[in-house]
Amino acid sequence: MPKAQETVLEIDLKALKHNFDYLKSKLQPQTKFLAVVKAFAYGSDANEIAKYLQDLNVDYFAVAYINEGIALRDAGITRPILVLHPQPINFKALIAHCLEPSIYNTKILNAFIAIASAENQTDYPIHIKFNTGLNRLGFSKNEVDSIISKLKASKTVKVKSVFSHLAASEDLDEKAFTLNQIETFKTIAENFTKQMGFKPMLHMCNTSGVLNYPEAHFDMVRCGIGLYGFGNSEKENQYLTPIATLKTVISQIHNVQKGASVGYNRAFKSETLLKTATLPIGHADGIGRQYGNSKGFVSINGQKAPIIGNVCMDMIMVNVTNIDCNEGDEVIVFGKNHTANTFSATANTISYEIITAISQRVKRLILN
Ligand SMILES: *Cc1c(COP(=O)(O)O)cnc(C)c1O
Repeated sequence: MPKAQETVLEIDLKALKHNFDYLKSKLQPQTKFLAVVKAFAYGSDANEIAKYLQDLNVDYFAVAYINEGIALRDAGITRPILVLHPQPINFKALIAHCLEPSIYNTKILNAFIAIASAENQTDYPIHIKFNTGLNRLGFSKNEVDSIISKLKASKTVKVKSVFSHLAASEDLDEKAFTLNQIETFKTIAENFTKQMGFKPMLHMCNTSGVLNYPEAHFDMVRCGIGLYGFGNSEKENQYLTPIATLKTVISQIHNVQKGASVGYNRAFKSETLLKTATLPIGHADGIGRQYGNSKGFVSINGQKAPIIGNVCMDMIMVNVTNIDCNEGDEVIVFGKNHTANTFSATANTISYEIITAISQRVKRLILN
């Protein structure tokens, strides 16, 4: 790998394949795999990731919003795409791009049937989302009858799947709660299937659900974070490889005198003679201010360099007093060894947040 000469996010497709194969090894052979590629494939590059997974024969994709699905169609993705959180204002565009909506309440169901029938659609695939305890999106279990009567009165739509989402699949202290969600989902699915007269696909598990609740894989699983290399536990992280490495470079080195300050608002005041390195990455690139003031650290020549003072928009300054380094040297913000998981923990957050926060200003470099 050539050394970084500017801030780049490297995306390792071999690592993606490794994670995909690992997650698939946890499934029954007939269980379908939906790859969640919302939010630019968790901050990496949705088009490249989806194209690669499509070539690996992934069964389904999911995004959060309709415009994310449109971007995938424009990039040549032909597999089914579930839109997890659509809004009616974009339903015409959703239909024009053959995207499949998650239908999570009566208002959305009515709006979708109205727009799809105005577009002369029949049997348009939809996915019915039930709330089983997360209390975020979804019909409640006592709405099954009213959904069924609407669906039976319409030839416009056809239910392709019934699904729900776990609230605490990574937290084994909440096992009883999760098992209760699974039982509630089974009851809903049985009732739905019986009344509808056919069995739609059922799915419930995200990455941690796949790893912790094999009894709840049903017909398909929906994996996001695991594909990108994180398993939400020390144990599972060992088997997965982070696909993204955020690299930058040392722009300038300063020798800071005792008593001098570093950065805006003079947030850092030096108590000794200090060597600092200024890096071309800041909060506009996704490194939030909470990483400043010695919380977060980067890795330079294998050594920890804490971020000192306030994070600026386009820069951070790091303490390199005891590190043998020069202007132009490569810096790892997070990657395979100093992981996004470790880095995010320094600011009391999680891998999901830091990897999706890396702004579009940072160049993506795809490694195959
Ligand atoms: C984001 C999301 C997922 C993926 O979750 P991971 O923990 O990243 O695997 C699955 N299902 C739904 C409904 C989601 O919103």
